Amino acid sequence: MNKFNYSFHSHTFRCGHASGDIEDYVMEAIHNNFKILGVSDHVFLPGISQPGMRGEFSLLENYLETFNSVQKTYKNFIELHLGFECEYIPIYMNYYRYLLESNKVEFLICGQHCSFDNDRNYIGYFNYSSLDNYEGIEKYKSDVIEAMKSGIFFYIAHPDLFMYTVTKITPEIEKIVNEIVDASIKYDIPLEMNISGFGRLSIDAEHGTLGYPNEYFWKTASQKGAKVIFGGDYHSPEAFNNQHFENLFNILIKKSGTTFVDEKVEFERYKIKLQELLNNQK
Ligand SMILES: [Zn+2]
Ligand SMILES: [Zn+2]
Repeated sequence: MNKFNYSFHSHTFRCGHASGDIEDYVMEAIHNNFKILGVSDHVFLPGISQPGMRGEFSLLENYLETFNSVQKTYKNFIELHLGFECEYIPIYMNYYRYLLESNKVEFLICGQHCSFDNDRNYIGYFNYSSLDNYEGIEKYKSDVIEAMKSGIFFYIAHPDLFMYTVTKITPEIEKIVNEIVDASIKYDIPLEMNISGFGRLSIDAEHGTLGYPNEYFWKTASQKGAKVIFGGDYHSPEAFNNQHFENLFNILIKKSGTTFVDEKVEFERYKIKLQELLNNQK
């Protein structure tokens, strides 16, 4: 039975679809004997408002201040890191670099829920009303691979996200899965096996979709030797205590033969690589 004591993926009420603030999550993580918690709310984007999806850009300073004060209070009990979960969006890459360079946040993970074109028009890839949308999933795949190439993301959150709109593994889907896994090995970016994907189980069942975390995806990642990291993706403090999801997760780990990286080693490697990258781009 794998019991994880770290997660670099957790949210706050600011995104509009999660409950609780940083301190509530930190206290719950400590109760659960976590050694590391990364706070990584959906990134606030200047010039874009998406209520219910991400917080407004005006919340940035409050996010930073709240984290700093919580970190001071709990520093002897748990290692805390502040980041954001970001989509790869070409026009925001400089903003992401700014967030890192100015030390506003320490790390970024890529969770590719959508994108925006250069005129800030929304780009969706897939949803429950367009199942098995290979064109959208292809675009998702290319954007995720671009995110890996950029080097500014610690890892790819729920790389198998599209599986919630996929009804069967076809040769097209196999190819996309293999391309994502191969790129993660080529660019040395870990893939996150996301326990909160089970939150969609009943709605996936309604639509007859496979959902994520997905067995075919993680078998492929494991067989090819991609780096895999655990992600809690907590959207409420109570989510730390979901025994049902933990059981399902452990069954999937066994079935897929997944082994996990040492999160501390990978995080240190990321920060060194990131520093080199930011220095070189100056
Ligand atoms: Zn979310
Ligand atoms: Zn996400």
